[in-house]
Amino acid sequence: MTTREQAIEAAARWFDEGHFLAELRRRVAHRTESQEEGRLPQLTAYLSEEIGPTLERLGFSWRLVDNPVSGFGPILIGERREDPHLPTVLSYGHGDVIRGYEEQWRQGLSPWDIVVEGERWYGRGTADNKGQHSINLAALARVLEARGRLGFNLKLILETGEETGSPGLHAVCERYRDELKADVFIASDGPRLRAAQPTLFLGARGAFNFDLTVELREGGHHSGNWGGLLANPGTILAAAIASMVDGRGRILVERLRPPAIPNSVRKALAGIEPGEPGGPEIDRGWGEPSLTPAERVFAWNSLEVLAFRTGNPERPANAIPPAASAHMQLRFVVGSDWRNFIAIIRAHLDRHGFAMVAAKPARMEMMAATRLDPDDPWVEWAVRSIERTTGHRPVVLPNLGGSLPNDCFAEVLGLPTVWVPHSYPACSQHAPDEHLLAPVAREGLLMMTGLFWDLGESGGPKRG
Ligand SMILES: [Zn+2]
Repeated sequence: MTTREQAIEAAARWFDEGHFLAELRRRVAHRTESQEEGRLPQLTAYLSEEIGPTLERLGFSWRLVDNPVSGFGPILIGERREDPHLPTVLSYGHGDVIRGYEEQWRQGLSPWDIVVEGERWYGRGTADNKGQHSINLAALARVLEARGRLGFNLKLILETGEETGSPGLHAVCERYRDELKADVFIASDGPRLRAAQPTLFLGARGAFNFDLTVELREGGHHSGNWGGLLANPGTILAAAIASMVDGRGRILVERLRPPAIPNSVRKALAGIEPGEPGGPEIDRGWGEPSLTPAERVFAWNSLEVLAFRTGNPERPANAIPPAASAHMQLRFVVGSDWRNFIAIIRAHLDRHGFAMVAAKPARMEMMAATRLDPDDPWVEWAVRSIERTTGHRPVVLPNLGGSLPNDCFAEVLGLPTVWVPHSYPACSQHAPDEHLLAPVAREGLLMMTGLFWDLGESGGPKRG
């Protein structure tokens, strides 16, 4: 009889013998850049030649479904069924990565072959998301080795379009709703609060990108001859933005703000300090004044100017520019009136005398906001399991500050969603020199082995 402790020790040994690194190296070598044209063969190969065979060894059945949005990569659906009376977990990962940007990586590093430097394993996808789903698949394998069975049913959905906004994922979750039925969703992506702090998050902020533009006339006009006579689009746009968000980052449009922060969310965030050692210092006077920094990033909306252009910024001329544009982003939490954002912005601009400012959603897909109640019994169950493995209570974030396609699972499939991230804020995800921290990956493997072990023992939280 293997014990929990022995199973976790065996997982640690397996990691220390280099097996995990070897598995991940093989996966990183697949150039699954979903943002590049013509990568369908690579995206398909990752699923059918790499993940599929791994699942078969774990006793899964699996198949690929075509992406309902043409031109985007397939989605793998897999299942290991043990007993219909046992609980069922749905897990998720994405096999695609951000562009390699090969020439921008530091000398000696490559996006497509892992380079180990101390604790850092460099390579595209090591953190986002190949490293993370590889940890979870490896943990399942370790539990199977130790116990001969999981003690629960597992379903897996692995997509290849997350870095292009998960096209087709909603439709697939809707179409295969019955097949994907489960009791809980457990998956990994994104960062821990800090490298050394095991973290759970229960949802994500949404993201709504939009453009504001002012186009008043053709061409610029000499500012000496016309200054004072011609309206300046840059000035108008700056004033329009200032009517929406003040100089300290406080959102001024009532309906772009979320409802009051629920008590369970406040409680979960108490004592949490966002930010990362070595990262930029948090600006204390920024954002909604009555909130703590953790509440500002995890429980509130933020409205950002991501880019602003008028005239010729590189070579300014003495001319009143003909046009101005700004690319804006609203990160928002659950409860925000997201269906009406653009109408709310339009009405606000009109009311404040900015009818000449056009507002339209950016081409990017809107990401929805989700959040499982921190008081949900699955949360405390997962917290206890991780605490048992690591000796410390993990941080619980009601939602990530960033965005994820979690609404597919939380809303379309109606599941309690528990995310256990295995990366950290300074991992350079989406940039050159992306890396995974070996000690975090190792701890993640042990945590997930413990979590899956416990689920097979206890079947999850007791139902009230
Ligand atoms: Zn990503």
